[in-house]
Amino acid sequence: MQPTGNLHIGNYLGALKQWVKIQYDYEAIFCIVDMHAITVYQPPDELRRKIREVAALYLAAGIDPRQSTIMVQSSVPAHAELAWMLTCVTPFGWLGRMTQFKAKAAEQETVGDGLFQYPVLMAADILLYQAAIVPVGEDQAQHLELTRDIAQRFNSLYGPTFVVPETRLPVVGARIMGLDDPQKKMSKSAPGSGHAVALLDPPDLIRRKIMRATTDSAPGVDFDVLGPGVANLLTIFQAFTEWTDEQMRTHFSGMRYSELKKQVADAVIEHLRPLQERYREIVSDPGYVDRVLLDGAARVTPIARATIELVKQRMGLYTVEVPAPAATAS
Ligand code: AMP
Repeated sequence: MQPTGNLHIGNYLGALKQWVKIQYDYEAIFCIVDMHAITVYQPPDELRRKIREVAALYLAAGIDPRQSTIMVQSSVPAHAELAWMLTCVTPFGWLGRMTQFKAKAAEQETVGDGLFQYPVLMAADILLYQAAIVPVGEDQAQHLELTRDIAQRFNSLYGPTFVVPETRLPVVGARIMGLDDPQKKMSKSAPGSGHAVALLDPPDLIRRKIMRATTDSAPGVDFDVLGPGVANLLTIFQAFTEWTDEQMRTHFSGMRYSELKKQVADAVIEHLRPLQERYREIVSDPGYVDRVLLDGAARVTPIARATIELVKQRMGLYTVEVPAPAATAS
């Protein structure tokens, strides 16, 4: 995740919640991508603070640092190194087609080259660790397709080098929409106080935001004709509670929107409460997050170096094993 803005329930339901679950089935690496964040100007002090806040939120959500690795992208220089090598095998046209680039570029007065290269750096984040599975929300599916294309192109040019990763989307919650505008993806950068529920929002604010969410003029929930706002509220509820489709239908059919919103707010508040409590505990130990992050970087560096050495050899870049000095006769 990028350490920008406030992490919201879309980030949680699309990515973080499934990360917590799968960490016991795989050897998992969770990265905080600060070098992606600087593709758009970030005030330095704010960025420094956000990196630690996101790390603390990963921990508070249940990523276990004894089981999994949490690290910051810029603390392992091999991410940038591999990104350059991959840039050189990525056709310009592939990047121009990225919808996230087009959307983000439209918001900027000046579009930096980094914004264009963003998906190549993301491919490097993944391929550097020979990742088999990448659990993300739906908005990242196109970048994952590109990562697969880059890996395959590299492998066919230079011989088998990279594992071609698979995208893993959650069954429910892969795309949470804005509360104020259910046609738009819930996003950290969208303006408006009623757009997103942040993971650290206090309960009364969460309730106010959900009670003000956009619905439609129908009298109550009808699963045969769900408007986007109501569908989004139901998705949020189902993704948090993990109720089955049948439970959802039985419970919510015909329910008035004010009652639906109240129940969604209750569920969100109840599920975020333990996360918020753990967050406060974690940040009360000032050195803890940095210890986890430094340990994470140290753990993954050998994996990253091995990939870089392999890529350098494959591409013919300068690698050398210095022979031992010849013994001299005395
Ligand atoms: P980012 O906000 O780009 O740092 O995204 C971090 C993770 O959250 C990625 O895996 C995204 O796919 C996921 N994500 C972001 N917004 C949403 C959303 N509205 N619904 C579901 N997943 C999301």
